[in-house]
Amino acid sequence: MSDTFDAIIVGAGPAGSTAAILLAQAGWSVALVEKHAFPRRKVCGECIAATNLPLLDALGVGASFAALAGPELRRVGLFVGAHELVAPLPRDGGSAHPWGRALGREHLDSLLLQRAAAVGATLWQPWTVKRITREGNQHICQLSATRPGASATLSAPILIAAHGSWERDPAGASVASAPHRGDLFGFKATFGNADIAAGLLPVLAFAGGYGGMVLGDHGRTTFAFCIRRDALRDCRTRRRHLPAALAAAAHVHTQCTGVRRVLATATLVAPWLSTGPIRPGLREPWRGDGMFAIGNAAGEAHPILGEGISMAIQSAWLLCERLLAREADLRPESARPTGSLNEVGRDYAAAWHGNFAPRIRLAAAFAHLAMRPGLSHPLLPVLRHWPNLLTTSARFGAKVRHVV
Ligand SMILES: Cc1cc2nc3c(=O)[nH]c(=O)nc-3n(C[C@H](O)[C@H](O)[C@H](O)COP(=O)(O)OP(=O)(O)OC[C@H]3O[C@@H](n4cnc5c(N)ncnc54)[C@H](O)[C@@H]3O)c2cc1C
Repeated sequence: MSDTFDAIIVGAGPAGSTAAILLAQAGWSVALVEKHAFPRRKVCGECIAATNLPLLDALGVGASFAALAGPELRRVGLFVGAHELVAPLPRDGGSAHPWGRALGREHLDSLLLQRAAAVGATLWQPWTVKRITREGNQHICQLSATRPGASATLSAPILIAAHGSWERDPAGASVASAPHRGDLFGFKATFGNADIAAGLLPVLAFAGGYGGMVLGDHGRTTFAFCIRRDALRDCRTRRRHLPAALAAAAHVHTQCTGVRRVLATATLVAPWLSTGPIRPGLREPWRGDGMFAIGNAAGEAHPILGEGISMAIQSAWLLCERLLAREADLRPESARPTGSLNEVGRDYAAAWHGNFAPRIRLAAAFAHLAMRPGLSHPLLPVLRHWPNLLTTSARFGAKVRHVV
């Protein structure tokens, strides 16, 4: 026996919960499956671009977000070596929310998940989707709970993969690849009493990695970075007595004077988290047979641009507005539900690629520049002379580009 829904969503990060809200408030029966209990912290720089704030309003969490999030992010910085360059961030003109803000993922993800439940999505949490198979026009999901021995089966004609990209794909779409020296590992910690200007978003560039710092909720500063596998191995060889996160953070401290200055008086208020390997790139937003992917499961940008949450929320939106526009054609009693679902899939995949593929490629170019001092340092005199090139880069990085 299985519980049957119109759609099953795997994963309640920003992508999955956004999709659950949009479909459930349109009257769909939706199962939202999340393996972790919330609130949970997550490796993330936690900057939310201005273009998402009207979407958070429309999802019904805008007021709660505004009450919690850190100050408006009005300036971008670049901390590299002994240099600290600063320039204005582009303003999202014409919007009620011209600037992005930062909010801890333990808050953002919980707000969205609670809203999904409030508008009628059925939560399965903490439950893990272990296996997905197909029977006729239904996707069958086998779930297991953290409680020993508990299991459940859900079915639906539409399956939305929103499980991120850092864990095993329950649909088996991704094949684990062999370790590579260029694989990235992500680290994050939260500090109190850091000496960071409110509203400044410094990007950090150092040999073998890149990162960011920001003042978020409750006066806390998030420090998050990615480092290549080979650079991390060197850090650990040089600092054998330290755990990986501290060895890597010590490397960032020695490479960026700005990080040392900001954290000189800071105290750790939430411990280091790590994740990886992270392999940014394009994946499959539409997998045929009523199976779609959103957020990182569809494709991942190097987090140097801090656009992953935008892509998560906005890709969910692109998919759901298409599913809802064709709702009548998708019903089993309609003339050609499968053909209509395929048309939605093709249309969504085209919209996804048009909007996000350029962002993924640009982020890759910036990331490779940042990680290689031999390439980035010759550009420093130019940036010192024209710091507003940072503003232009943020604009090209889609900071104020509306997808929805
Ligand atoms: C160092 C670093 C810094 C970053 N900084 C920023 C930033 O400043 N701004 C920004 O916008 N983005 C940033 N990002 C990127 C951002 O964190 C991701 O792009 C974003 O979390 C993607 O959201 P998602 O909903 O697709 O996936 P996720 O947030 O990864 O959510 C996926 C969810 O699925 C659940 N799940 C997984 N498998 C299963 C399963 N089998 N069954 C049930 N549940 C499952 C997981 O528990 C998780 O809760 C950063 C990333 C890194 C690594």
